[in-house]
Amino acid sequence: MCYWPMDWISATETTLGDSLLFSVQIREYLETTGRMAGKLSYNRFMKAKRPVAAETCQRIEEVWRRLGELYGHPRLQPTGDPFGELVSTILSQHTTDASSMRAFSDLRARFPDWKSVKEAPVETVAKTIRFAGLPHQKALAIQTALRELDESDLALLTELSVQKARAKLTAIRGIGDKTASCVLLFALGMPTQPVDTHIERVSKRIGMTNGEKTPTGIQHVLKSCLPADGQTMFAFHVDLIRHGREICVARAPKCTACLMVDICNYASQIHLTVA
Ligand code: SF4
Repeated sequence: MCYWPMDWISATETTLGDSLLFSVQIREYLETTGRMAGKLSYNRFMKAKRPVAAETCQRIEEVWRRLGELYGHPRLQPTGDPFGELVSTILSQHTTDASSMRAFSDLRARFPDWKSVKEAPVETVAKTIRFAGLPHQKALAIQTALRELDESDLALLTELSVQKARAKLTAIRGIGDKTASCVLLFALGMPTQPVDTHIERVSKRIGMTNGEKTPTGIQHVLKSCLPADGQTMFAFHVDLIRHGREICVARAPKCTACLMVDICNYASQIHLTVA
């Protein structure tokens, strides 16, 4: 049974583009809360909790080592601004970095503080963030999050375990695992691994998933194998995204130029030989 609020559905599902973001948010929400009978909830609560094979962890550790050789390990510098991270992550969905940054900058310039954003007419917020795309949908998601959290809630997150902090954030409609993990890692330096489209694709190709197919399942595997500190989670995340953008690109991965080729399932399946 789906418990997604029906008034929120009718109020927000206004265009084809909005519907796309909406369906993704529903999926994140349902996976997070387990409010779906069948495959998704099975994946989250059964498959994602199964033991991770030692071989999978060895592969992840080797990828981590090679990423360091390739790109170095960038230093984590938490922003200390959970609201800013939350809003920028919502704005970044289904758009380019440049567009979401422009929208974030416009939002900060238009409103003096987050309280003003929360209390403004949704149309005004939507117009201000229009460069990020899906403006009505994103304005609603931002205002919902701002209404359901306050500064003291966010400040207390660091006193909770990662699991409890994530649960607190994902209890808010429209905030899924990825958004919550971005807030915890980038704003507060807590050890969690956001799984975006690049992390998911590269992890599946190399074989760092232990058979998991969902972002939540992959997050569990990576978290199980990497050292549980914010610095490692951050550096692994940034380096693997860079690898996905520059080498293991979506349409035609550059396997012959890739340092992972001899440990990659995808490469071995297409019978790429190592020089
Ligand atoms: S070998 Fe190919 S598929 Fe594997 S990580 Fe490298 S680019 Fe991606």
